[in-house]
Amino acid sequence: MGSAAKGWSSRSWVSEAAVGALLAWFDRQGRVLPWRETEDPYRIWVIETLLQQTRIAQAEARIVRFLAWFPSLQALAQAPIESVLEVWQGLGYYQRAHNLHRAAQRLHAQGGFEALWTRPDPLQGLLALPGIGPYTARAILAFSEKGAYLPVDGNLVRVLSRLFADPTPATDRAYYQGQADGLPLAWRQRKVAFALMDLATLLCTPRQPKCLLCPLSAFCEGLRQGAVMRFPVRAERPPRPTRHFIFKLYATAEGVWLVQRPPKGLWGGLWCLPMEELPAPAAEKPTFCHTLTHFQLMGYVERLPSPAEGSRPVEWSVLGQYGLPAPIKRLLLHEAEAYHRSL
Ligand code: SF4
Repeated sequence: MGSAAKGWSSRSWVSEAAVGALLAWFDRQGRVLPWRETEDPYRIWVIETLLQQTRIAQAEARIVRFLAWFPSLQALAQAPIESVLEVWQGLGYYQRAHNLHRAAQRLHAQGGFEALWTRPDPLQGLLALPGIGPYTARAILAFSEKGAYLPVDGNLVRVLSRLFADPTPATDRAYYQGQADGLPLAWRQRKVAFALMDLATLLCTPRQPKCLLCPLSAFCEGLRQGAVMRFPVRAERPPRPTRHFIFKLYATAEGVWLVQRPPKGLWGGLWCLPMEELPAPAAEKPTFCHTLTHFQLMGYVERLPSPAEGSRPVEWSVLGQYGLPAPIKRLLLHEAEAYHRSL
């Protein structure tokens, strides 16, 4: 886990000089992003949460709209969840909207940010709120100048792992944040965080970083080792387990019989053939194989002589209006074509 590279703060070059070069570059080349102008912790929190949801090109309109509806912590805390969800529409991950609302209610009931700043450890106070993780909590503190932090997201992991030639896998975000928390004070300030974010986007890009233009090139250990592209190190994924499912198909020339999946779990809420997990691989070859995040799914199709219990007919002509898992959609399109050919 990169023990040789641990202790960033002990590097001789982690000095004011590196920060000075970075900030001088930022003053000349940094991006002007309107949402960076505020130091209001509520706005920063909303902005950071929305930036996680939105591509940067659409972010500004989203931020303006959200803050127009809920201009203050009090406004958000006192709004009904339905109106928060209305403004959130189209962003996905609705759990985040629920968390934002719940956290606003809790923080408001506790006396808001003003009360939070008087607590001995505001970072822990923020981390205790629903949906606020290590990055967002530090971003709120650093960007509102209420705490000396360098919030580390995936882009900063890339820059910092290269800069320190740190072989710790990029997935170990807690390690990177811990190292950043131990950097000298000069590194833990709002402007440095913005500068490193811009460096990550403009120069220290995932492919073909522009090291010749980089203000940190004189300090960069990855560059000195000629090994920039070795960082960040990707952790090897453990092989995905395989699970076997039987899919029960009853179809006619008119349509196919489907069930709606339960809201949680595999393919939650989507329409699907009735399915059952098998305890072991079936004797025959699977009809299809599909890779999901956590496992490899082997699907076996069993044709039924009559509809499965609880299933309901869906006409082929309207199948496209139903949300279906990708492999089931492919399978049924194929099936529908076969019926049409035979007509
Ligand atoms: S010198 Fe290259 S690898 Fe190092 S921080 Fe700059 S752009 Fe990234």
